[in-house]
Amino acid sequence: MRITELSVPGYERVAKAEDPESGLRAIIAVHDRTLGPALGGMRMWPYAKEEDAVFDVLRLSRGMTYKSAVGRTGLGGGKSVLMGDSKKDKCERLFRAMGRFIEAFGGAYITAEDVGTTVPDLVTVRQETRWVSGLPREMGSSGNPSPYTARGVYLGMRAVFEERFGVSSAKGLHVAIQGIGSVGTSLAQLLAQAGAKLTIADVNEARAQALAKELGAAVCSADAVMGVECDVLSPCALGAGINDSTIPALRCKAIAGAANNQLLEPRHGDALRAKNILYAPDYVINAGGIINVGCEFLPGGYKEEESLKRIDRIYENLKEVFAVSKRDGVGTHVAADRRAEEILDETRRAKRK
Ligand code: NAD
Repeated sequence: MRITELSVPGYERVAKAEDPESGLRAIIAVHDRTLGPALGGMRMWPYAKEEDAVFDVLRLSRGMTYKSAVGRTGLGGGKSVLMGDSKKDKCERLFRAMGRFIEAFGGAYITAEDVGTTVPDLVTVRQETRWVSGLPREMGSSGNPSPYTARGVYLGMRAVFEERFGVSSAKGLHVAIQGIGSVGTSLAQLLAQAGAKLTIADVNEARAQALAKELGAAVCSADAVMGVECDVLSPCALGAGINDSTIPALRCKAIAGAANNQLLEPRHGDALRAKNILYAPDYVINAGGIINVGCEFLPGGYKEEESLKRIDRIYENLKEVFAVSKRDGVGTHVAADRRAEEILDETRRAKRK
């Protein structure tokens, strides 16, 4: 395997691996370890060009630094990308080679599941390196992150309810959920228990109907959910749903959901602010999963109790972001980045003392 270092200002280490024997072409980026080892998922994607893969890994690893900082996971930001088609290029040799590449970082980078990779792929990677997170519980790991992400979104919503409606509970509020997969389903259950009025939508309509029956929720079509008149819209499907074509149709007062990269562009966060829609920044409210994974690396190993305590902090984390937004007169999406930078700066200063 040939490992080539790429010099990228502002990043601790970026390296590319090429291994003709297994077909591996991959890049690992360690953006920042001020707060701990750099954890971030392993993405497998058929990038057209190497520059596209580099662009993605740099952008995503930096995002992980910010997410972990605000989430106080005790981790830094990293990411890896595997150039290939997850539908046809996967094999054991490939993931074992990837494991050796990760091992060459000596623990500075810890991997996890991401788009195009699965837990069984990670189990293969684990044969070559111990720097793998999110494996099954039976392997001493933290298991499926989705229920933890849902819990974090639910608690984060309470900060949104207080900020936007002056109430601390979901009781009587109308929440519309887009996407009732792993996270959306758990979230709907928590909200129903708390007395919220729910409208749910999924491209898989049969799934939506079945859950609606269980919870006494209303169902609407996947096309219509963004325009439902409600208190809180909760995107729990794919990213980039908040964009020029959906914003004019929004009839919610707040947005708080699990989906990653909900804003197509940062300016869409400003557009929400202009419409007086309170946006809970995605990477702050959906950090429950990574907080849970981060607990695998605490002294003594993973303990669910500790994880839940940390996930409960998402409520305060959001409150802090809302406070920065008001202090600086900026959208909450900008405030979240500022809060992350403040936390990183405080830690860097404390380390220099
Ligand atoms: P999932 O694949 O289990 O569920 C997504 C659901 O959305 C599916 O039921 C799918 O049918 C539905 N869907 C897709 N397109 C839709 C559309 N246009 N309209 C309505 N429904 C649509 O995924 P998940 O694990 O529940 O994650 C949901 C989102 O949260 C994703 O964006 C994911 O990246 C993000 N996220 C998940 C976690 C986690 O722990 N699982 C952590 C952080 C962020």
